[in-house]
Amino acid sequence: HPEKWCRGFNHFISQCLIKDFEKRPTVTHLLEHPFIKQVHGKDMSLQKQLAELIQEQQRLGSVAKTRHERIHTKRPYHVNGADKYSQDDDLVNLEVLDEDTIIHQLQKRYADLQIYTYVGDILIALNPFQNLSIYSPQFSKLYHGMKRSSNPPHIFASADAAYQSMVTFSKDQCIIISGESGAGKTESAHLIVQHLTFLGKANNRALREKILQVNPLVEAFGNACTAINDNSSRFGKYLEMMFTPTGAVMGAKISEYLLEKSRVIKQAVGEKNFHIFYYIYAGLYHQKKLSEYRLPEKKPPRYIDNETGRVMHDIVTNDSYGRQFEAIQHCFRSIGFTDEEVYSVYRILTGILNTGNIEFAAISSQHQTDKSEVPNPEALDNAAALLSIGSEELQEALTSHCVVTRGETIIRTNTVDKAADVRDAMSKALYGRLFSWIVNRINTLLHSPSFNTENGMNVGILDIFGFENFTRNSFEQLCINIANEQIQFYFNQHIFALEQMEYQNEGIDAATVEYEDNRPLLDMFLQKPMGLLSLLDEESRFPQATDLTLVDKFEDNLRCKYFWRPKGVELSFGIQHYAGKVLYDASAFLEKNRDTLPADIVVVLRTSENKLLHFVFQVDTMEVMRHPEETTNMKRQTMASYFRYSLMDLLSKMVVGQPHFIRCIKPNDDREALTFSHERVLLQLRYTGILETVKIRQKGYSHRILFEEFVKRYYYLAFKAHESPLGNRENCLTILEKAKLENWILGKTKVFLKYYHIEQLNLFLREV
Ligand code: ATP
Ligand code: MG
Repeated sequence: HPEKWCRGFNHFISQCLIKDFEKRPTVTHLLEHPFIKQVHGKDMSLQKQLAELIQEQQRLGSVAKTRHERIHTKRPYHVNGADKYSQDDDLVNLEVLDEDTIIHQLQKRYADLQIYTYVGDILIALNPFQNLSIYSPQFSKLYHGMKRSSNPPHIFASADAAYQSMVTFSKDQCIIISGESGAGKTESAHLIVQHLTFLGKANNRALREKILQVNPLVEAFGNACTAINDNSSRFGKYLEMMFTPTGAVMGAKISEYLLEKSRVIKQAVGEKNFHIFYYIYAGLYHQKKLSEYRLPEKKPPRYIDNETGRVMHDIVTNDSYGRQFEAIQHCFRSIGFTDEEVYSVYRILTGILNTGNIEFAAISSQHQTDKSEVPNPEALDNAAALLSIGSEELQEALTSHCVVTRGETIIRTNTVDKAADVRDAMSKALYGRLFSWIVNRINTLLHSPSFNTENGMNVGILDIFGFENFTRNSFEQLCINIANEQIQFYFNQHIFALEQMEYQNEGIDAATVEYEDNRPLLDMFLQKPMGLLSLLDEESRFPQATDLTLVDKFEDNLRCKYFWRPKGVELSFGIQHYAGKVLYDASAFLEKNRDTLPADIVVVLRTSENKLLHFVFQVDTMEVMRHPEETTNMKRQTMASYFRYSLMDLLSKMVVGQPHFIRCIKPNDDREALTFSHERVLLQLRYTGILETVKIRQKGYSHRILFEEFVKRYYYLAFKAHESPLGNRENCLTILEKAKLENWILGKTKVFLKYYHIEQLNLFLREV
């Protein structure tokens, strides 16, 4: 029966592909297999698949060789370890399950440079704070298609599991990397992309090269040096890698979330602006092109010089910024940006730097005291020239604004402070829109016209800013922490809540594991109309509201144990997050939430002769054109509503895929190799619920397969190949008994298996 042939054949092929090479059938075995024998010569499409498989097998010949050599040497990166999979590799194997044992185990492994540890199917990654030689192509080969227990835990094994799962079950996958700032999320995301491009049979070298350039390019624009991490992600990133049904990589797509635009205009002490500004300034300095972009040679622009003299010192003494600039130029080129586009990007970036240098001074005349002028017109001319707009028009838009009242247009002047605010709002908007444009352009350039969402599949990788708790926490930290709260909720849902709900539905009596449910806290933030974000939006609509009235409003409405207001600090409020208490400073909350860009500025920017600049300000112009006076009753897009929308958009992408979790942990706050702070690790283990996860993974059943699917996958174990047993309970039982598995449970509609059963089943299948 053709359908059955197809099913059997596909199944056989996928099993061959996911198995350990040593016991994998050779091409000759394959050709002699009864399925192949009968199909061979009959069905062209199946023959084609076979040819692909043979190619794959030949390629794997070299992997087998490496693996063979490795088996006779030590474990790849275990300094003192044995040469086989160790029981210690998975915390679920621990007999005593308490915090002390887990932490001791992690500490011991860290001292041996075993930074990766499993908790069932979850990977814990400790930041090594040093370069380890475990990420070369040899390691990608070593982990390719291997059973998890063949090698020590590794990020490649997790990437491999996601890939194999996608190919075998034709299902989208989603890898969620979490952890606090500096824990190693972004590095982990890079390594996953590296391994997936390797797996995706990169016969299209150009595409592979392009995909590998995406992260460095986007991070030059979206990452910055903070007090915690020299390369901190200041935006959330969801990267989807697209594959064909046979697992060949076809393209990639990025979604960006919540870029911290305020960093463009101001940075805290000890922190820096986005990397790209230093790269471009240093690059132009070394290429002697600063004057072409109207940047002064001795004194870097104000936006990048918050610690006077430091940048210049760095540039003169060390050329690393300059080299990075060259690397970025290479990224732009290899991804496919045109020279004209890149030139426009540089002009906008240097335009922003020049805009930051525009100063304002008050003009006092008899009648008017709130008028301002620009005392350094050369900065204004420079900015206008680089942005390809008129200098006078720019000055007008910065120092005055139009108001429409009762059909009449009145021009009002801006005070010095107001003009400076408008200037900074313009810089933020320019950068934010430039960043979004770059991301969209990358997506267009990496989009494959032949990719078909109907039969194509993807692996999504989420690398979102970690939980933050600084000495001063503002609106940006609040958004970041709410996003982390949502990710934690998603994790809890998968590990605890859904698991227990399913046991109940299937009539299984499984022990309940206590865990910290952060749902009430999430509701406090997101609920409408009385959640914190809604209250913030409501207050932002009142022109007379102040940050103080906002905090009063929070206090009056958020009556729960997660919110409090410290005495004596008016603009402060505290939140008990899942990861700890955070004190927020509400100054400028309303302004940041309104995120207004005066219409006068939009009008001027739209006159730009720079095509790119003109284009990015075409979008949603109508929205921005509305004056605050007119919008009192209108629903303008605030940061809070945009944030809420982005969060939902992200979640909707995540939930369609099968999740894989990677928990990054920062072993110390000093970024030192081989230093393990017991307290710091314990805290992270506690708030990420690792102890509970270990328990649930030990007691629970991580795989739940519908009877029908189970029989379809494993019927060879108990039935003849030509039989087609019904997908019912009895047949599942027959298969499970034949396979001699222990500790499984049969529910009402599903087989409940431990995470290690799958591997055992596949092993048996191979031997049949
Ligand atoms: P943030 O939330 O601030 O973006 P993050 O979790 O993304 O933080 P990373 O930028 O990935 O943190 O890591 C911080 C630093 O730790 C890296 O710059 C690197 O120096 C080091 N690091 C992390 N993972 C590794 C690794 N696997 N090997 C070597 N160094 C690493
Ligand atoms: Mg990061």
